Amino acid sequence: MSKISEHLDLSEVIRSESAKRNGISNMPTEGHIANFKLLAEKVFEPVRNYFRCPIHISSGYRSIELNKCIGGSTTSQHCSGEAIDIDMDGTPNGVTNKMVFNYIKDYLEFDQLIWEFGTDDNPDWVHVSYESTGKQRKQVLKAYKQNGKTNYKTY
Ligand SMILES: [Zn+2]
Repeated sequence: MSKISEHLDLSEVIRSESAKRNGISNMPTEGHIANFKLLAEKVFEPVRNYFRCPIHISSGYRSIELNKCIGGSTTSQHCSGEAIDIDMDGTPNGVTNKMVFNYIKDYLEFDQLIWEFGTDDNPDWVHVSYESTGKQRKQVLKAYKQNGKTNYKTY
């Protein structure tokens, strides 16, 4: 399998249970892969090197079809190879989602960082994006459910 960066394999970025279950193709283009390489250089590898343990990607690339299937936003940066979700729950090294969130927030350049649901102590996962062309918005948000709908507020 080809590599995105030193510690990130393409297979980790395209893996999707929903795609498998629904027989949906989830192959990024060369352009999407180039975007992931930039995201890996600016965000993933710095996180990996800081915590010195495997960083689990729960969702990376999503084809338009896959994203529709799971009810994602039509403008999701996952569809352009500019976003990954990190979920450290159940990993053995004592690194929490909150620790990853805080490290990215305080030390890295990013476009959008989202504390995804969970509690005030720990998000269910961390969404982070890196804009491949324009300026990074450095937007930090918190996602929460209200009447079954997803809302965002400034963190
Ligand atoms: Zn995400």
